[in-house]
Amino acid sequence: MVGVLDCNSVGFIGLGAMGAPMAKHLATKLPGEVKIFTFDIVETIIDGICAEYPDKVYKGSSPKDVAEKSDIIITMVPEGAHVRAVYLDENTGICSTDISRKLLIDCSTIDTATSLAVKDHIVQNFPTALFYDAPVSGGVIGAQKGTIAFFLGCAEDDPNLPRLIHLLGVMGKQIIPCGGPSLGLAAKLSNNYLSGVIAIACSEAMNMGMRSGLDPRVLAKVYGAGTAQNTICDQFNPVPGVCREAPSTNGYRNGFKVQLMRKDFGLAVDMARRVKADLALGDAGLGVYDGASKDPRCRDLDSRVVYRYLGGNENWQNKLQK
Ligand code: NAD
Repeated sequence: MVGVLDCNSVGFIGLGAMGAPMAKHLATKLPGEVKIFTFDIVETIIDGICAEYPDKVYKGSSPKDVAEKSDIIITMVPEGAHVRAVYLDENTGICSTDISRKLLIDCSTIDTATSLAVKDHIVQNFPTALFYDAPVSGGVIGAQKGTIAFFLGCAEDDPNLPRLIHLLGVMGKQIIPCGGPSLGLAAKLSNNYLSGVIAIACSEAMNMGMRSGLDPRVLAKVYGAGTAQNTICDQFNPVPGVCREAPSTNGYRNGFKVQLMRKDFGLAVDMARRVKADLALGDAGLGVYDGASKDPRCRDLDSRVVYRYLGGNENWQNKLQK
């Protein structure tokens, strides 16, 4: 057993855009004797990371196989259906083997109901196992830099918190305990709802101001100085050319894909309905992200491409030069 982490092996399932860099931090920063077992339905991904870290990262044949070999198992897959398959499949799932006393952490952004169903299954069948939701924020670049934030579904006085902070701290910067099971997800979904609504409102406000004759840089300054101040406007402005580093200025590339925002926004609207929180902007916002994620001019681009979807002028610099 190794230090506060109390484990000899960590499993990682789902090594996509986020999972792969997260697993690489574990591979390079965990003590030499800790082995990492990996699984992804795309076999070449696993072969690649195993070749990159020989004698450290090993290939598992299924989530069950990874669970059998690991003391701690982290999962990072796209949606609730994938989380169900990874944990609950009768033949290949994590829970199809004895996971007593193991620590399981799901970092996927999914609906709270699925997360609670997985937790209930684990509590009933393996009372000594621990399961936490821990969705992340900070994007692919944050995952690569090791600066992502974890919204952890656990109480501040949970006795396992120091161990969780130690482990997640290897892959990210901020670890925020959100109160209890599924509350990490509830926090993440409400956060993305807010960020998604702000991006639409910022696009609309910029568009109406620019059509009235204003330079978007002046508009951004005005919002920044007043009550409309927000990070989307200041750092991720949807209008190309306002923020030098923003995805919009770089062809809306390397950001948070509009389809992912559509997924998270939809999950947030569903959650609000379930907990009976009225939304004035929910259906309208969902319509925008749904439309943009299907629009070939916007698909696969940063979610702030809603500015383009809503008819914003991207060539304003040409017009100003005339
Ligand atoms: P991704 O599609 O790049 O990666 C997901 C990986 O999971 C893929 O490699 C896929 O093959 C694998 N997978 C799917 N089903 C599987 C299964 N049954 N068993 C094993 N592996 C399986 O997605 P991503 O961008 O890494 O996102 C993962 C999660 O993180 C999502 O829930 C997403 O919403 C969330 N997230 C993403 C970002 C981002 O900027 N990409 C930011 C924050 C949170």
